[in-house]
Amino acid sequence: MTKITMYTKDVCPFCDRAKALLKAKGAQFNEINISTDEDVRAEMIERSGRKSVPQIFIDDHHVGGFDDMAALEAAGELDPLLGRYGHETFKETHHKLVVIGSGPAGYSAAIYGARAGLEPALISGLEVGGQLTTTTDVENWPGGADGLQGSDLVTQMREHAQRTGTVLLNDVIVSADLSQRPFKLVGNTGTYLADSVIIATGASAKFLGLPSETAFKGRGVSACATCDGFFFKDRNVVVVGGGNSALEEALYLSNIVSHVTIVHRRDHFTAEQVLQDRVQALVDKGNVDVIWDHEVSEVMGDAGEVSQLRLRGTQSGDEQIIATDAMFVAIGHDPNTRLFKDDLKTESGYLVTEGGKSGQATQTSVPGVFAAGDVADPVYRQAVTSAASGAMAALDAERFLTWEAQAIAA
Ligand code: FAD
Ligand code: NAP
Repeated sequence: MTKITMYTKDVCPFCDRAKALLKAKGAQFNEINISTDEDVRAEMIERSGRKSVPQIFIDDHHVGGFDDMAALEAAGELDPLLGRYGHETFKETHHKLVVIGSGPAGYSAAIYGARAGLEPALISGLEVGGQLTTTTDVENWPGGADGLQGSDLVTQMREHAQRTGTVLLNDVIVSADLSQRPFKLVGNTGTYLADSVIIATGASAKFLGLPSETAFKGRGVSACATCDGFFFKDRNVVVVGGGNSALEEALYLSNIVSHVTIVHRRDHFTAEQVLQDRVQALVDKGNVDVIWDHEVSEVMGDAGEVSQLRLRGTQSGDEQIIATDAMFVAIGHDPNTRLFKDDLKTESGYLVTEGGKSGQATQTSVPGVFAAGDVADPVYRQAVTSAASGAMAALDAERFLTWEAQAIAA
């Protein structure tokens, strides 16, 4: 029998994602929590060569972190590694409404769709719960209690969707044919035929794209402060970016590490004023500093770990090298639209929807296919706007199916 070992820690969104993926496959694993035990932490670093959680081993094969396991899954290579051959469970099912994505937009669409009698099936994807699972406090969700955590909020949404009768499926769509009805969505464990589809695939974190950044991933380069910040307790770290995510990462890290330097390519932040004020207070105290008008051009290391960054001035073109123990990248997200590019109209990577005030605002360029949340929103990209557009998409899908049924009956 395949032996799976996963090193995790207490608060770790990417560990939760890795556990959800393995559980969805019915795979048993041995979890080793490194939060408090220095010895097992040292064992993990020694065995994997990485300072990042989770670290997953299948028998003696080092898979790496969640992203590495997700890449294997996307390439269809995870099942053979787990000893699962053939898709005994592969089925074709037909639904009135399929929602793709399990972030605020997807769950909200499912809740409204279920209440409209559309018996939705929701396909969760690899990032169960979406982007909010990667953050801690959510302070702008209306009615949210003090200290509301991102992962708790999406767990409540999931439970709510389930209570309304939504069928929650742990699958990833790998190809889509939206050129004919019923629409056809092919996942890793099933094929879904759908009379209507709501695409709520959100967005995934961007990296700088430097070869040296890839080489040091898990060795000081991270996109998740809540997962990996604690490896750098009392050390110096850099956060790259100037939006809400970057400032939140910097504030979170400032409670753990000795010093945070924010490197931003402009001369001002674009984050909300409240976050800018909190960062300024730490700059005044000396815990944080900002290097304006610079971008990272190279990540450099010592003994396989990040030790320096080469920076280039975006205005001046000057070069400087700064010492650091880690680089946290928070430079925004790319919309997940690759699967739909052949069938649907996109603009700057985002799905194009009708908009306007006469209904069907969330319809894409194909009638019956709707889009909600960050995947179709280059501007607002908030939990509350995503949830709102999910509700609109379900109402649009319901009206579309009703009109269609009436037209056929007439
Ligand atoms: P996402 O949350 O991105 O979810 C997308 C879903 O689609 C995922 O479940 C994924 O698994 C699924 N998916 C993708 N591809 C496939 C596929 N091929 N098959 C099946 N499923 C797929 N907003 C706020 O309002 N307040 C905050 O405090 C806040 N904090 C944030 C902190 C951080 C660090 C980040 C990164 C974002 C934050 N945001 C916040 C923004 C907010 O999280 C997003 O606007 C929101 O999550 C978008 O929701 P969504 O449902 O459109 O997509
Ligand atoms: P963002 O708002 O798009 O900001 C990205 C930042 O990274 C910008 O400062 C951008 O600089 C910089 N950047 C982009 N590409 C870069 C590159 N290649 N090299 C260096 N810097 C680069 O992304 P985000 O901060 O992840 O936020 C995404 C959405 O989620 C936003 O709508 C945000 O409001 C929301 N969010 C909300 C909260 C909250 O409400 N508390 C928290 C987090 C996120 P330029 O400006 O020069 O492009």
